[in-house]
Amino acid sequence: MRYMQRTRIVIVGGVAGGMSAATRLRRLDETAEIVVLERSGHVSFANCGLPYRVGGVIEQRNSLLLQTPAALNARFGLDVRVRHEAIAVDAAARRVRVRDLAAGEEYDLGYDRLILSPGAVPVRPGLPGIERALTLRNIEDTDALVAAVAGARTGVVIGGGFIGLEVAENLARRGLAVGIVEATDQVLAPIDPELAALVHRRLRDRGVELHLGQQVVEIGADDVVLADGSRLPAQVVVAAIGVRPDTALAAAAGLAIGELGGIRVDERLRTSDPHIFAIGDAVEKTDAFTAQAALVPLAQTANLQGRRVADVAMGRPGGDRPVLGTAIVEVFGLQVAVTGWNEKRLRAAGRAHRVIHSHPMDHAGYYPGATQLAMKLLVDPVTDAILGAQAVGGSGADKRIDVIATAMAAGLRASGLAGLELAYAPPFGSAKDPVNMLGWIAANLRDGLTETIQWHELAAAQAAGATVVDVRTAAEHQAAAIPGAVPVPLDELRARLDELPAGDLIVYCAVGLRGYLATRVLEQHRAGHAWGRIRNLDGGMRTWQAGVGR
Ligand code: FAD
Repeated sequence: MRYMQRTRIVIVGGVAGGMSAATRLRRLDETAEIVVLERSGHVSFANCGLPYRVGGVIEQRNSLLLQTPAALNARFGLDVRVRHEAIAVDAAARRVRVRDLAAGEEYDLGYDRLILSPGAVPVRPGLPGIERALTLRNIEDTDALVAAVAGARTGVVIGGGFIGLEVAENLARRGLAVGIVEATDQVLAPIDPELAALVHRRLRDRGVELHLGQQVVEIGADDVVLADGSRLPAQVVVAAIGVRPDTALAAAAGLAIGELGGIRVDERLRTSDPHIFAIGDAVEKTDAFTAQAALVPLAQTANLQGRRVADVAMGRPGGDRPVLGTAIVEVFGLQVAVTGWNEKRLRAAGRAHRVIHSHPMDHAGYYPGATQLAMKLLVDPVTDAILGAQAVGGSGADKRIDVIATAMAAGLRASGLAGLELAYAPPFGSAKDPVNMLGWIAANLRDGLTETIQWHELAAAQAAGATVVDVRTAAEHQAAAIPGAVPVPLDELRARLDELPAGDLIVYCAVGLRGYLATRVLEQHRAGHAWGRIRNLDGGMRTWQAGVGR
């Protein structure tokens, strides 16, 4: 009798969000009947590791299979049904129609609560020949790609997003000559162009052919055709042009779908039906800045939501949190990390922002192996709130972005980064960590101690009559300089102040530090000179070069 009264919770999708929900549910309720339906042949697999299996970095296929239905049953008492697809939901009757794909049979499964975590589906453009393009979403896709790569010499990846770049790198690892075709003029849309330029350079240095601002119009038998008529050899073609929420089941069940095409859920992850919850890539999340809907198809948000929905489904307090979109990818040894909004998006939204670029070493320069980071911080000029951050570098980009994401989640202001006490020893960082540095720069700008100009504003300022002063050494100036710049090395600046003409001055150095020092010297010797605005080129020549593509 007691058995009959068990609460039954059915979960659709047995990977990131679904399995997090299932195991948390069990930890909260030893009596509930928890059924997980998964249409593929595997649950709880490591989707984020799939590209590395293609490249052979993950040598054993089994390493991707983190759990089996039997193990989940033994440890958590879960009823996990792989190759079982939920094909319809009768919300009024609280019933799921299930197809057992192995047996070819269908049955109904009643529920007290239903949790949908069906993920996303890869976007497949309607191109002639598209059936030859592979996608990468699950273990079966990975097996197909591994088989296709064997013996192949050429590959083209359509799409320069996170997954596209991971796939491209792993095809290259397998010895294929790889091309990436990306419709916009940069890879990795979440970062800004001057940082994406560093990724472009790394890809080209490693032999990947980048076709930016290009579109594939046809997939041939062993090549792809671009809109400009050129043909790229491609024995293997991978379509990685993005994903869209998998809402087929939810929409057919009459659940509300949001404007961005994801399942609409409230702050407690409830759909428009009181007994149905939804999480992960399939749902619209809430943007941390606008409180509007956002699509953020990432593993960590799916996992977090899995745990949260279990709490909600069990009647515990709590709910969802807005998303920053913190993400990271490795591209041929280059870490690319981002959190919050980028400058492109802030500009498009007309939102006031202050930009800070810096190029610190990832750890003490005197300790072997230090590499330079390119960092960017976006700050609200009125409230000093951190709006976003990006970091690209060989090492240490991950922890800096994670620190900043944590600061953002805690509501810390940009200048507050200066005061963070961060772990330091020479192999790991600097006594003044790059994150502290960003905080000091933010505080200096907020307090008006220095003013900066951005790389994309320089040409117009020069055309309007500003004098550009190169405060690097004479040798650096001779090696490469911004056209029209007057060389006055920082260490000679105080003695040569009278050489600087009236009007606006823009100083620059390699990365912005000496330029900042120069602005402080000039500001304090302003008396007796007819100088106008004195600005430092933010991020120095390095950011300018990356931005203007030199
Ligand atoms: P999934 O984990 O995709 O699980 C959904 C499951 O539901 C699928 O297995 C599907 O078969 C099943 N399903 C769907 N419909 C039904 C149905 N009707 N009946 C039964 N089962 C159904 N994110 C990161 O944060 N970092 C990374 O490095 C990263 N790398 C990635 C690399 C690749 C190649 C891919 C594909 C994704 C990567 N992601 C990464 C994204 C991350 O994997 C997803 O955000 C996350 O898995 C989403 O979790 P989910 O539970 O919403 O969906």
